[in-house]
Amino acid sequence: MRTRAEMADGRELIYFDDVTTDRTVLPDTRDLPRVRHGSTMRFDVLTGEWVAIAAHRQDRTYMPPADHCPLCPTQPGREPSEIPAEDYDVVVFENRFPSFSADAPVVAPEIDGNPLWPQRPAVGRCEVVCFTSDHTASFGSLAVSRVRTVIEAWADRTAALSALPGVEQVFPFENRGREIGVTLQHPHGQIYAYPFVTPRTATLITRAGAHRQRTGRDLMGDVLDAERKSGARVVLDGEHWTCFVPAAARWPVEAHLVPHRAVPDMAALDEAERDELAELYKDLLHRLERYFGEPAELPYIAGWHQAPVHTGRDLTRLHLQLFSLRRAPGKLKYLAGSESGVGAWVNDVAPEQIAENLRAAGS
Ligand SMILES: [Zn+2]
Repeated sequence: MRTRAEMADGRELIYFDDVTTDRTVLPDTRDLPRVRHGSTMRFDVLTGEWVAIAAHRQDRTYMPPADHCPLCPTQPGREPSEIPAEDYDVVVFENRFPSFSADAPVVAPEIDGNPLWPQRPAVGRCEVVCFTSDHTASFGSLAVSRVRTVIEAWADRTAALSALPGVEQVFPFENRGREIGVTLQHPHGQIYAYPFVTPRTATLITRAGAHRQRTGRDLMGDVLDAERKSGARVVLDGEHWTCFVPAAARWPVEAHLVPHRAVPDMAALDEAERDELAELYKDLLHRLERYFGEPAELPYIAGWHQAPVHTGRDLTRLHLQLFSLRRAPGKLKYLAGSESGVGAWVNDVAPEQIAENLRAAGS
């Protein structure tokens, strides 16, 4: 169930409850000034990629103590948090320090009037998704019914953000663990609505377009069928979803979760697909926590790749890319010269071994 509210500085906040309840919306009593957004984006003519410049984000909250957590429910007698409710299931709200926003300032089309340096307002939206009111929980520890509510929130926000003017791609993701650069401990993810098609998605579409022209077939569908037929890298095989380690995995731990039906995004998933996704995703996170034997928190990035809003929607499909930088207990893979410098990846772990470890972590 979905209930909309407004924050003290005018940002939108939406409650998603596990069951239908009569949620009383409490007012946000803070004296909170509107943040002046200065986000712009600059085009790198050498690579053809946009870079967002969001200098105002330097001032954002960094690892506050637990009793000042902005994502915990507001407790009576305590300083109000971002969420003016005594409890909640899942809540989504606009980021106070967004990289992309609807009120990004208008800028000249070129820096210094030079056509080599195009720039544009960083129009779009960034939202925060709180998965639970429990500060010490993790996504993997949530009940399947709560994971299902999060999926409902992702689907709802994907549809809503896709409808915003200028938005070209919606990307829900979770960064988990200090090692990834998480600035708040509370279990949460984010959704970025970009005013351009992101580089990875643009590449996927180019590759899939060439494959279709050559074979008349769907590239992601062919990869999925081949992985299921081989089985060497399959971790979970459901009725509607299959989880496998990609044949050319680039991270020391990496898995993809792909729907059998070619759906462009979360909003296009039917009830049965959402139900099974809740179970399989929880199962996958559970395996991640046991990847190196003893249950331990593995830092990870979970990215939900979705088809662009306006272009190439039939060329790619919704899929999860989940990966960790941890290559061994206590050891991280750093993106150094080869990966960061020229984008050439070296993986020290065979993808078949990653799949074997993920399968073993479930038993
Ligand atoms: Zn918290």
